[in-house]
Amino acid sequence: MKVGILDIDSQMKRDNRGEKRKYPNIACGKIYGFHKSRGDVVVYPWKDTPVDRLYISTIFTNSRATIEKNLWVYELFADEVIIGGTGWDDYSVKPWKISRLPPEIEAFDEPHWTYEMYDLDYGIGFSTRGCHVGCSFCVVPKKEGLVEYRDSTVEKLLNPRSKHLVLMNNNSFAHHDFMEDIEQIKHYNLSIHWDQANDITLVTPEIADALRSVNYRSFDGRKKELFFAFDLMVKRKRDKTGEMVSYDMLKVVPEKVRMLKESGIRPSHLKFYMLIGFNTTEEEDLARVECLKSLGCEIYPMLYRDLTGKIGVDATGKPQSFHVRPMRDWIHTGLYRKQSLHDFDRYWQRWEEVALK
Ligand code: SF4
Repeated sequence: MKVGILDIDSQMKRDNRGEKRKYPNIACGKIYGFHKSRGDVVVYPWKDTPVDRLYISTIFTNSRATIEKNLWVYELFADEVIIGGTGWDDYSVKPWKISRLPPEIEAFDEPHWTYEMYDLDYGIGFSTRGCHVGCSFCVVPKKEGLVEYRDSTVEKLLNPRSKHLVLMNNNSFAHHDFMEDIEQIKHYNLSIHWDQANDITLVTPEIADALRSVNYRSFDGRKKELFFAFDLMVKRKRDKTGEMVSYDMLKVVPEKVRMLKESGIRPSHLKFYMLIGFNTTEEEDLARVECLKSLGCEIYPMLYRDLTGKIGVDATGKPQSFHVRPMRDWIHTGLYRKQSLHDFDRYWQRWEEVALK
């Protein structure tokens, strides 16, 4: 059998380890390994080669239109076309349409094929999946469920070419095997990058000590970095007993940053993803910026887009407040450290654009 793989939206990026696809598509890696290990011919990257089956995977919803437009071309070259990935899923109306890999491929668990396919010199994958928090703007609980579960072990994800590992777990601290991961990271003397925002509400002195005990790094390994989320003013979720608990994040974040600091983790190593344009006001966004700035933490603003990929709307589907885009630029440029939002040119430019509409 001859199969093709079109990984439509992972971009080539250059870092200190050369030019690579920054985020390998793990599903494509499984497809590649499954067919290679069966002795099939795998064409990757696929481009207009006749094949028996063509797999197309997309992470981002904005690739959907391109795939739909080119579908006739794909069908010209392949007897069978299988399309999937988060960008292909449809969350516009219930029941959601969520694409899944064929079960025999989903069960295929040999990460070294992903490393071969993408020529990776670091390990990457999920040791756990799922997330109990259930934020309405996130696909993870819809795709993977509201209970964290084991997907792999650190040991299994090791790349023999490297001592660097990237874990893409969505809520690492919530799984009871987190400490086992820490022990394996130390045992193999790895540098470790947790790529998704960790849940700051779950930090305890034990977790803080565990994080400090490992060589946590950025994706490219160049600097010390730990990601957390500060997406909402009040975070509501079920605790271990099933009780719904509310967290006032303007109180929780400073308290947990202090806890991490007491364990020896510098606040400047902490980067907070900050969702804007979802359900917060300008005053609330400024309060979050002020809070993180005064703590000495880094901020990464994330512009909200809905689950269908639509941009410019808030949680209720109404147009976002005019301050949202200037707020993102003000943080991204680092000017939030030097001037107020109201002294930032783009704030008033945007205000005029929206007012004159
Ligand atoms: S905590 Fe993160 S992974 Fe979990 S549901 Fe919220 S956004 Fe998604």
